[in-house]
Amino acid sequence: MRTHVVDHPLVAHKLTVLRKVETDSPTFRSLADELVTLLAYEATRDVRVEAYDIETPVSPTTGVRLARPRPLVVPILRAGLGMLDGMMRLLPTAEVGFLGMIRNEETLEASTYAERLPDDLSGRQCYVLDPMLATGGTLAAAIKFLTDRGADHITAVCLLAAPEGCARLEKELEGLDVPVTIVTAALDEKLNDKGYIVPGLGDAGDRLYGVVG
Ligand code: URA
Repeated sequence: MRTHVVDHPLVAHKLTVLRKVETDSPTFRSLADELVTLLAYEATRDVRVEAYDIETPVSPTTGVRLARPRPLVVPILRAGLGMLDGMMRLLPTAEVGFLGMIRNEETLEASTYAERLPDDLSGRQCYVLDPMLATGGTLAAAIKFLTDRGADHITAVCLLAAPEGCARLEKELEGLDVPVTIVTAALDEKLNDKGYIVPGLGDAGDRLYGVVG
């Protein structure tokens, strides 16, 4: 597993505003969208393309287009939905599958409560959207779900990651014969005793969509 922390002043600037407690939901959503597009640029560095011939107004030449099967973008519900538009801006012809994972706040274990994905993901590059790589349980379960269906290349895009989550992912994915890359805006300090990332930005779902009672 490879972790890539995107080192760019615009990423750091937008992330700083996302972290602020006073940033309201509309501003949070719009900044998260912009930030994901910047992360998506890095995350798609290895997207598969194929060569094909074109004509410019001046001469024939060879260009590239996205290879088939198309990449699959998989937001993890609910907070991953807030990252979908920002990702699709750079990959408008990708397909989208949905994975609903919920974390038990006591055991911190993740389980699947909904999925809308092709049964066969053979030969697919998958881009998993999960804003907070905290304990790593949700992302590890999502990655296993996708590789069990045949996905052969996984990139997870996360706004923030905690060292504990990266370590757990590394351990849980040991021996997996599929390349996995985590692309994130920052690797934060630690998790607190409630499983929140410190300094973090709070509950990403609540900050995007408000608190559901
Ligand atoms: N999920 C969140 O939304 N925030 C955290 O800090 C950890 C998990």
